[in-house]
Formats: sequence, C-alpha cells, structure tokens
Amino acid sequence: MSLNFNKAEFIRSAAARDGFLRDGLPQFAFAGRSNVGKSSVINRLVNRKNLAYIGASPGKTTQINYFLIDGRAYLVDLPGYGYAKVSQAEKERWSRLMESYFQEGADAITTGVLIVDIRHKPTENDRVMHDWFRQTGCPEIIVANKLDKLKRSQVEPALALIRETLELTDRDILVPFSAEKGTGKEELTGLLNKACE
Ligand code: GDP
Repeated sequence: MSLNFNKAEFIRSAAARDGFLRDGLPQFAFAGRSNVGKSSVINRLVNRKNLAYIGASPGKTTQINYFLIDGRAYLVDLPGYGYAKVSQAEKERWSRLMESYFQEGADAITTGVLIVDIRHKPTENDRVMHDWFRQTGCPEIIVANKLDKLKRSQVEPALALIRETLELTDRDILVPFSAEKGTGKEELTGLLNKACE
C-alpha cells in the first residue's frame, strides 16, 4: 500500500549521533543548499505549509529533523549548506554533524534526495553532498527545483548541465520539480514509494 504523505508528523531533532534514528523503517534523506527550496519541497510533498519549518527554531539550524510519514517511513531533513552569512563555528558544527551522520547513520538511508536549483549549475557543495550519498551506495534522486522559473526551452539544457556537473549515471534519477506549483510531486512520491517496496 502506498505511503500517505499527508500523514506526516515531526518526531525529533538530532544534533549529534545519539539522536540518530535507526529503528529499521525506511528513511528518505533530503539535502540541499540553503534557499534551494528544501523546506518548500518537503512541505509540498506532505501538503502542509509549515511542517519543514517546525524543527527550524532560531539558532538551531544545525540539526537533523525526522518526520514520520504514515507511521511507516521517515523523511529526514538534513541541515542546509552553503549559506554565506553563517558563522565559521556554525559551518564547523554542520561539518561535524554531517560527517557523523554519514559515518554512523548512513546505512539507515533508503534513498538520498538531493535538491538542486534547476536554474544553476550545481555548486561545489552540491557535488560534495552528491558524493557522500554516492559513497553510502544508496539510490539517489536529484530533484531540480524551481522549474517554474524557467522557460520551456531552457529546461532540457538545464537538466543536461545538472547531469553533466554531478556526473549522474543511469541509476540516478533526475526529477524536474516546482515546489511552488506542485510539478513533479507525483513522480517523486511514486519513486519514494517504490523505494519502500
Ligand atoms: P530552504 O532554505 O532550502 O528550506 O528553502 P525554502 O523552502 O525556505 O525556500 C527558499 C525560497 O525559495 C522561498 O522564498 C521560497 O518561496 C522559494 N521557492 C522554493 N521553491 C520554489 C519553487 O519551486 N519555485 C519558486 N518560484 N520559488 C520557490
């Protein structure tokens, strides 16, 4: 039976490895640079305005938020990266948390979801995140968000640039998406459902 993404609840935030969940349920780990629309994509998937902002209390940006979907899978919201105004201390906290997550928690990842901006060549940080997912060996879905900001003729070249920059293989799935309009939602939920079978 497919997951009902409308049934989503915040479970916990983890700032270190003792907070990582590993109870055997499938986990979809969502990553992306700050402002790429990661929260908007998550909110679109679960049909809620604010779910992905729940764990995002001020001053607590460096944490991993777990949401339970339909009582049967976790959506894992990894902290965003690449925001220029973040302090050095915060950047180091981010690195420590991600290193420990990819060392200790990564075998719990069912599918990695990397969100990039369809308008731009993926950044160096996007490539690093993509490599981390790749090293875990989990299947990965790349969501090219903000599709609504492109003209139709710009879409294919933009997708080709993302494929080329991230050196995507046939195994990697690239989904054009608009959190704003809802485009790509069915495809993404379908892929996540398939990953749980
Ligand atoms: P996050 O930092 O990655 O969680 O990004 P947010 O979800 O907070 O979104 C950052 C900004 O991008 C907000 O102003 C959103 O309204 C906007 N945004 C997110 N997704 C889309 C999209 O698909 N299309 C457009 N046009 N704007 C988007």
